[in-house]
Amino acid sequence: MTAPTLPGAHFRLALTPDGWRRNLSVHFAADGTIGEMFEDDNPTGLPVYENPVVPGITDLHSHAFQYAMAGLSEVRRNPVDSFWSWRDIMYFFALTLSPEDMQAVAARLYLSLLKGGYTGIVEFHYVHNDLDGTPYARREELSLAIFEAARATGLELTHLPVFYAHSNFGGAAPTEGQRRFIQDLDGYHAMLDALRAPAAEAGHVLGMAPHSLRAATPDEITRLMQMRDEMLPGCPVHIHVAEQMKEVEDSLAWGGKRPVDQLYDIAPVDERWCLIHATHLTAGEVTRIARSGATVGLCPLTEANLGDGIFPGSDFLAQGGHFGIGSDSNIASVAAQELQMLEYSQRLRDRQRNVLADAQRPHVAANLWTRAALGGARAAGRPEGAIAPGGMASFVELTSPEPEALLPVAEEVCLDFHVFAGRGFNVGDVVVRGRKVVQSGSHPQEEAILADYAAAMRRIAARLDDRKAG
Ligand SMILES: [Zn+2]
Repeated sequence: MTAPTLPGAHFRLALTPDGWRRNLSVHFAADGTIGEMFEDDNPTGLPVYENPVVPGITDLHSHAFQYAMAGLSEVRRNPVDSFWSWRDIMYFFALTLSPEDMQAVAARLYLSLLKGGYTGIVEFHYVHNDLDGTPYARREELSLAIFEAARATGLELTHLPVFYAHSNFGGAAPTEGQRRFIQDLDGYHAMLDALRAPAAEAGHVLGMAPHSLRAATPDEITRLMQMRDEMLPGCPVHIHVAEQMKEVEDSLAWGGKRPVDQLYDIAPVDERWCLIHATHLTAGEVTRIARSGATVGLCPLTEANLGDGIFPGSDFLAQGGHFGIGSDSNIASVAAQELQMLEYSQRLRDRQRNVLADAQRPHVAANLWTRAALGGARAAGRPEGAIAPGGMASFVELTSPEPEALLPVAEEVCLDFHVFAGRGFNVGDVVVRGRKVVQSGSHPQEEAILADYAAAMRRIAARLDDRKAG
């Protein structure tokens, strides 16, 4: 998409890593980064934002295709429905999508994310093969569908082709339902190689993702790290870990170690890594992650929806741990809702209020937003997530539907309203790398994206019916 490029902006009120600042004039460089930034009472020539602005958040974990199945798995089919019975439905669903559907669904999701306070995404992409499990003529076909969705919407993309080879610890053979995900190391190498040029051309960050310790053996993870040194040195690496208690038990039964300990013993986990979920941790594992500098990718609404468990957020933050938020199964596309769920999970466990705050940032919402924006950028491998010189000019305007009622009491607590009191402050403009991608809550390609999505859903519904009948 072509969005108007701004030369800079004047913010009456902006959330920076040092807290709220007033009357900031900010100039953008040609590459979309923030150049000069200074306080200025009389700006001239810059567009003025009278409403508060906050840094855009990178959604650090998404499986875009799951947006189309949100709401379709909320029926009890089993007295003990769980993550694992949900996963069977997801596998069934994943076997229906064409490349055209993938593109339409991802674009629909990315549109929602932009309007939900996100300016970037990390796509953890594991549907690679054709419906029958054979690779497409272009192995990277479905990754290119994701690239096209990012281009059409203007959301910044970090793309992680996923290595997925097994169904459980110890290199267990994959199941028939996983056939679209499965690759060997040579196939993965070829796909990564084919994606390098188109990713560079489009400005996407390309990274790597062993799906989990269930889907990749320790030897394969070692080989993947060699591949990384050779092809994409220093690129982001993400992995699902310790999401479910069954995974912890299977890990202990197979190798005598819990999954996070196991991962740290086989891989050079550092600040370029992102551990997705990391829900079930011992005190020692919390410290190990915090000390390594890795980011934890929390997906609070998906984790609640799937009954995963509660992340030890207060302990992790007390040790200086880094985190970001992900929409994962894409049942929600609003950053504020994820942050609200994260804080509420801690309150319900601890029977306290205002848990994820500290002396430097006593406002929970400002603390969580600032940290999630920085953590998301860190996990995405981009210098952004802060309204500060050298960062990307990616920010979100918060508009009030009742400015006369709310602004007198709520200007500096606008984020508290946005995160915890849904009736105040909505997303207005969204600017990504200096380009105005959403204007006053509207996206210029919205109509076409919604029409393509509706057409994709008709095709998907017909294929689901055929498969149920077959
Ligand atoms: Zn996931």
